Amino acid sequence: MNKTHLGHTARKRFGQNFLNDTFVIEQIVDAINPQNGENLLEIGPGLGALTDPVCERVDALTVIELDRDLAERLRHHPFHGGKLTIIEQDALTVDFTPLAKDDAPLRVFGNLPYNISTPIMFHLFKYAHLIRDMHFMLQKEVVNRLAASPGNKNYGRLSIMTQYYCQVQPVLNVPPGAFVPPPKVDSAVVRLAPHKQPPVDVADVKVLERVSTMAFNQRRKTIRNSLKECISETQLLELGLDPVRRAETLSLEDFANIANWVHKHDS
Ligand code: SAM
Repeated sequence: MNKTHLGHTARKRFGQNFLNDTFVIEQIVDAINPQNGENLLEIGPGLGALTDPVCERVDALTVIELDRDLAERLRHHPFHGGKLTIIEQDALTVDFTPLAKDDAPLRVFGNLPYNISTPIMFHLFKYAHLIRDMHFMLQKEVVNRLAASPGNKNYGRLSIMTQYYCQVQPVLNVPPGAFVPPPKVDSAVVRLAPHKQPPVDVADVKVLERVSTMAFNQRRKTIRNSLKECISETQLLELGLDPVRRAETLSLEDFANIANWVHKHDS
């Protein structure tokens, strides 16, 4: 399998699968629709598959790249003409607050390293109030989980937490052949647009995360059993929830109600 692209050998530990299909790249950039004056931020620019066409459309773009060699290449790229601000850092440790400006919320995009795509998204959710939208290439299976509704086999903690923060819109499926080297899985692009107001009131998001993790760790069990450490059968009934239901049938609002009850009675 060819792992070398434009003279760079892909590093597995950095999740490097470089986009190499002009049609797919064009569709992604069209979906992002970058405009001058926007606060654009790319995670993992790599060899510039998305960076280059975005730079053709706008005057300024900030990129975060962990691989020192790739950051160095970008610094000496002949066509970017001073448009790029390069942050050579692990995206998981970046404080996004100083990157956001009041009049121009962040527009984040990237073909994410699949090995850490979920932690990157959760890190960004902490800054959801500073972000207008995010376009990410992810494993297709992850996109299915982000977008899943109750009753769907892909519905779980990732669906609950993502949908609490964002509106989720799958954009495009991408086959392995669009990358060098091709990943072993199918991919898809998703648009995540943070809600201006959360769709449900949650007193403490960490409790929502804890409760949904607990419920879906034992997704075959009834919530009476999977959640017995934090809420009783009687309390579930008082919240209007049948204790013999399974986690996969509960809506975001149901989870918010449970989390708020736990938050109130935990301390
Ligand atoms: N955007 C390029 C493309 O589409 O061809 C490269 C995408 S490749 C899937 C992921 C990129 O993220 C690589 O350039 C990799 O070096 C970079 N990367 C990996 N881990 C990172 C991290 N923790 N923080 C920032 N960038 C990272």
